[in-house]
Amino acid sequence: MTNAVVVGSGPNGLAAALTLAERGVDVRVLEARDRVGGGTLTSELTVPGLLHDECAAFHPTGVGSPYFQQLGLEELGLRWLWPEIQLAHPLDGGGAGLLWRDVGRTAAGLGVDGPAWQRLFGRTSRNFDALATDVFRPIAHVPKHPFKLAHFGLHSLLPAPWAVRRWKTEEARALFGGMAAHKFGSLTTPLSASVGLMLGAAAHAYGWPVAEGGTESITRALVAKLEHAGARIETGVRVMSYDELGDPDILIFDTAPDAVARIMGDQLPSGTRKAYQRYRFGPAAFKVDYAIEGDIPWANPDVLRAGTVHLGGTLEEIVASEAKVGRGEMPDLPFVLLGQQYLVDPLRSGGDSGLNPIYAYAHVPNAWTGDATKAITAQIERFAPGFRDRVRHVHVRDTAGLEAHNANYVGGDISAGANSGLQLVMRPRIARNPYSTGVPGVFICSASTPPGGGVHGMGGHNAALSALRGLSG
Ligand SMILES: Cc1cc2nc3c(=O)[nH]c(=O)nc-3n(C[C@H](O)[C@H](O)[C@H](O)COP(=O)(O)OP(=O)(O)OC[C@H]3O[C@@H](n4cnc5c(N)ncnc54)[C@H](O)[C@@H]3O)c2cc1C
Repeated sequence: MTNAVVVGSGPNGLAAALTLAERGVDVRVLEARDRVGGGTLTSELTVPGLLHDECAAFHPTGVGSPYFQQLGLEELGLRWLWPEIQLAHPLDGGGAGLLWRDVGRTAAGLGVDGPAWQRLFGRTSRNFDALATDVFRPIAHVPKHPFKLAHFGLHSLLPAPWAVRRWKTEEARALFGGMAAHKFGSLTTPLSASVGLMLGAAAHAYGWPVAEGGTESITRALVAKLEHAGARIETGVRVMSYDELGDPDILIFDTAPDAVARIMGDQLPSGTRKAYQRYRFGPAAFKVDYAIEGDIPWANPDVLRAGTVHLGGTLEEIVASEAKVGRGEMPDLPFVLLGQQYLVDPLRSGGDSGLNPIYAYAHVPNAWTGDATKAITAQIERFAPGFRDRVRHVHVRDTAGLEAHNANYVGGDISAGANSGLQLVMRPRIARNPYSTGVPGVFICSASTPPGGGVHGMGGHNAALSALRGLSG
């Protein structure tokens, strides 16, 4: 019987393990931490009973993942919950860009820019499923939907501010800019519009839902499938060298490329080893979880109907603060992503304490050693005067804390690699098969591989299919 070891139990590691186990491979998953799930954990970080997503919170790529759809995780208890408004972007003075699942309703709220929003997102969201089959795969393949991909590609080649240069309203421009900022770092480079375009299209096609009970519910469903398929998961095992692994037929790393280089050492071809050692990490996150009394007192009451809130002011302000972060400087008011998951998932508020969990992180330079708690609180207070008075507890995780929590977040980079230059389209190295390490049977599948960050399992599934093809070829 063919045997396999998967190093790391993030969603990509579990997807790789499940793809193999369901095809009769004897699979062992080795996880460094004492809990399975990597970036999907949910914990009582502030006070007992309050559930906070430790990392991933919103799941446009989860609900839209072709692999997760094929697994039917909902039958194993996973329930997606959609906020009324997917995304809000408040501005000084009380205005706000609001993204509803319905493109028309979103466009109707964006004044003179409504028709442009409709043109940009109407077609891409209608084509999202077809696009996903191409975008969720390595760049070097024959597209199944070349014309739909070309339409998407033409727009996505632009720097983000260029893509909306004719738009007039601050609300529409900021709404797009906040989504593009998920790229982390400079938004004035070619292709930076692609992230905003993809996330916006996903929001209209599938929404930005949360998983009931916390993101960890996704992992619980995957683990139930894995156990049923006979795979074994061992926690508390940090793999340091190849010698520990017992020479399996298939070895798949759900780790950062530099970790593969360290673990495999001289066994890697020197070209791969050098590429993995040169692999660049990007800006980081600084995370603060709050327990607050009641709700956030947003100046614009519609913001209290949204799951995700982007705090960063106008498009120009976001472009400037992201440029600073990309240069390794900390802006006074960084871009902040805030989550109000409890609005659609009240179980997370744990009984009748009157407290609610709030999720927030700021973009900061890689390996930044400062404390962004005050800057994040100030950015929330700017659009919700009185917020500070409602805070009862905070839990802070700085860039070093993020890396200690998960070795894949090098320097606090939660995207597992810089989304810039060639690395935005070819990662972790320039190769026809990005999952291959060049050693027969040995693959990498983490968010450092296509299609990149997010809880979708596609890197793991694709890598495992490559491994199986290698066996039969
Ligand atoms: C603050 C934050 C917010 C985020 N928000 C979102 C979001 O809203 N939506 C979204 O889709 N994504 C989000 N993400 C990103 C998402 O969590 C990751 O992209 C995703 O988890 C990557 O999955 P993965 O399987 O590649 O690796 P990971 O989930 O990072 O898991 C890797 C696993 O490998 C283990 N490991 C590493 N090295 C070793 C070793 N040597 N031996 C054994 N085990 C090892 C780690 O302990 C870890 O458990 C966020 C991440 C963070 C940190």
